[in-house]
Amino acid sequence: MPARQTWVDGAAGSSYDVDNLPYGVFSHSSWEGEQGRVGVRIGDHVLDLAPVAAAEMLEVAHVFEAPALNPLLALDRAHWSGVRRWIVSLLTDEAERGLVEPHLLPVDEVTLSMPFEVADYVDFYCSLDHASNVGKIFRPDAEPLLPNWRHLPVGYHGRAGTVVVSGTDVRRPCGQRKAPDQDQPTYGPTGRLDIECELGFVVGAPSAQGERVATSAFEEHVFGVLPLNDWSARDIQAWEYVPLGPFLGKSFATSVAGWVTPLEALDAARVDLPAQDPAPLDYLAVGPGAGYDIAFEVLLNGETVARPPYSSMYWSPAQMLAHMTVNGASLRTGDLFASGTVSGAERDQRGSFLELSWGGREPFGGPDSQRTFLEDGDTVTLRATAAGTLGGRIALGEVTGTITPAA
Ligand code: CA
Repeated sequence: MPARQTWVDGAAGSSYDVDNLPYGVFSHSSWEGEQGRVGVRIGDHVLDLAPVAAAEMLEVAHVFEAPALNPLLALDRAHWSGVRRWIVSLLTDEAERGLVEPHLLPVDEVTLSMPFEVADYVDFYCSLDHASNVGKIFRPDAEPLLPNWRHLPVGYHGRAGTVVVSGTDVRRPCGQRKAPDQDQPTYGPTGRLDIECELGFVVGAPSAQGERVATSAFEEHVFGVLPLNDWSARDIQAWEYVPLGPFLGKSFATSVAGWVTPLEALDAARVDLPAQDPAPLDYLAVGPGAGYDIAFEVLLNGETVARPPYSSMYWSPAQMLAHMTVNGASLRTGDLFASGTVSGAERDQRGSFLELSWGGREPFGGPDSQRTFLEDGDTVTLRATAAGTLGGRIALGEVTGTITPAA
């Protein structure tokens, strides 16, 4: 990334400088009946890429006219990098200003929609602290980590059709649950509605069925990242999850940010993984810099309740990708895979209310708080920042959602 300064007012030195440039799908408040299209965020503005790309006769101009990022995702790493360089030159070259400036829209005048059409959705379980905490809470009399956990990134297939964009309300789900002191299960609204603070990875370039994707090919296939909230109904989950894993306790809603941050924006945030012991099998081997140092913040009704550190994650996204395809399962453009709850070693670094309240037994959020799980009307927001390549910090798009009462 050349150290050139953007001419966009207020953007240089902000958390949305030219070293960030996340993509989203937006529509402007003045548009009537028009579908959204692809924009890129710079400072407090969104650049409407389609008319600029058309004016410059960009080879891939058509991808910006779509109401989803999928045509852009379906290109390859070389094209993603080329488009990014083109956008940087638009926003830093004074000679481009006359063409570009009329297509900058204030971010508070646009509405973001779901940024891409989700193909398949997989959720992993890559935090050692989270997996250990959940093991202790759900299975107090057993080893917290199951025998496979340090040998492979554990995951499950989620529900792609219920992934929603930030700002979408989440209705409290109903289902079947049975407390340990009850003889029989009952049906009704979950009493243990929770969040999971996660990082989602968006797959661009597909792979062929029958062929596995190596850890070294991670950047050829994964386009970018976004904060993700894996809403969870703990009472439904606890009753249903043995032996086949999460199902209706998770599938009612998953919220993602409206902005997808390209992988290249995170080049300065790469860090080594924590030590892996035992060493994983060869197909899961990665070199230095396989992890990411991303600082998350969990806000409940505007108050910070946790700061989960992504740098503590045990398994890297390249390992998740390699494991997800090691049996020959193919990747499709628009596949989404998520890290699992990000939790650090300290109490205020836990990325779920289940852990913050230790299974509902220890209210959190201050000495007078009775807070354990989510109430109707609560709003949860996940924010994340990382080191940018220009020396400051970049912001990942935030993901927020408000709980509405059960039907
Ligand atoms: Ca999860």
